[in-house]
Amino acid sequence: MQAPLPEPEPLTTLIEALRRLPGVGLRSARRMAYHLMQHDLTAADQLSRALASAVKDLRHCTRCNGFAEEEVCATCANPKRDGSVLCVVETPADQNMIESSHGYRGLYYVLMGRLAPLEGVGPQELRFDRLVKRASDGVVREVILATNFTAEGETTAHYLSELLRAQGLSVSRLARGVPAGSELEYVDAGTIAWALMERRST
Ligand code: ZN
Repeated sequence: MQAPLPEPEPLTTLIEALRRLPGVGLRSARRMAYHLMQHDLTAADQLSRALASAVKDLRHCTRCNGFAEEEVCATCANPKRDGSVLCVVETPADQNMIESSHGYRGLYYVLMGRLAPLEGVGPQELRFDRLVKRASDGVVREVILATNFTAEGETTAHYLSELLRAQGLSVSRLARGVPAGSELEYVDAGTIAWALMERRST
């Protein structure tokens, strides 16, 4: 096989950085890097500024653990939300899906992941202690587990159910209308609204 042309070091570094994105292999990373550097330096500059700003200014909301610019995010700070219900989701994308169903007025807690022992993601990595503390504020009455209906999401829900019920909290799980193995992000809003309404206590 012919050896590839040597690339200037900054280009190699950029390609390696792009490769870290989910679903991006070496070929696509190289294509993106060439595109940006050859045809769209303005976009490259915008991207680099946006990334630097996000890394510097984005933080995790101290109440829901979701992304925020301030210490407490706009959703948690909204007095119109019902603080007695806390919906636990895996990712901000799942939270967006539940919001778009317009069937929920409570608050959220974003795990930023799910239990995946084989990948070394356990209760410590996901900081379940913070969720327990958040749910034990005296205002929360019910915790809705809205993790995905995948094997890992179910394991996470089961584990959290035990943990939270031990705190005397009432815990429920989204109804089963959501197909097994599915990720909330790809379920339609109507089904999510139904699953919320028909949730079962665990
Ligand atoms: Zn928040």
